[in-house]
Amino acid sequence: MKFKQSIRLLSVILAADLFLLAFLIQIIFIPAPSAAVSAPEAPRTEKYVALTFDDGPDPIHTPVLLDGLKARGIPATFFLMGSSIPGNEAIVARMKAEGHLIGNHSYNHVPLTKAKTSAVCQALDRTSTLIQSITGSAPEYMRPPYGDWNEELECQAGMTTVLWSVDSLDWKLKDRERIVKRVLKDVEDGDIILMHDIFGTSVSAALELADILQKEGYTFVTADELLID
Ligand SMILES: [Zn+2]
Repeated sequence: MKFKQSIRLLSVILAADLFLLAFLIQIIFIPAPSAAVSAPEAPRTEKYVALTFDDGPDPIHTPVLLDGLKARGIPATFFLMGSSIPGNEAIVARMKAEGHLIGNHSYNHVPLTKAKTSAVCQALDRTSTLIQSITGSAPEYMRPPYGDWNEELECQAGMTTVLWSVDSLDWKLKDRERIVKRVLKDVEDGDIILMHDIFGTSVSAALELADILQKEGYTFVTADELLID
């Protein structure tokens, strides 16, 4: 009896050892599946695009745009011109409350590389101060008027410059259909679209583009989400 018990105990120990050995062999000799042999990932289907609007706020057209964006649940990016803010503070507050990104577009829309550095700093600071007094935070992003910028203009003081990858030419075309066509011709995943919320045709084109691109599977994001570091 005692002998049988010993045998049983021995076989239990042996089985446990074998199990442990098998486990160790598996860890040491069987390589973890590499990316190359694992099942292929589902193709990336998400497409992102950002609508950006310069030169506002405009007392007539910006609220219409905000209504349309709200109805569609779409965030946008607004680069505000400081001189247009006084009198339109409620519109700026609404942008912030409705989840849009607010950036700085200087004060008077002068080409910044042609101005004195001190004047550039003043134009940017004045606009940031106005925005901060309404929203509680200074803008982190700026777009120079006409995209006119150089690295010597270091006074941007922590603001990231945001240009664009698709120019709607809305200020020139001033025709909803032609603006829509112009953007659709070029738009791709990751694009930042330049528009201006100071024209009625731009606003109606933007909302039509929003509908078309949403149907095409695009997700609208604010411009900061599409910047490549
Ligand atoms: Zn502008």
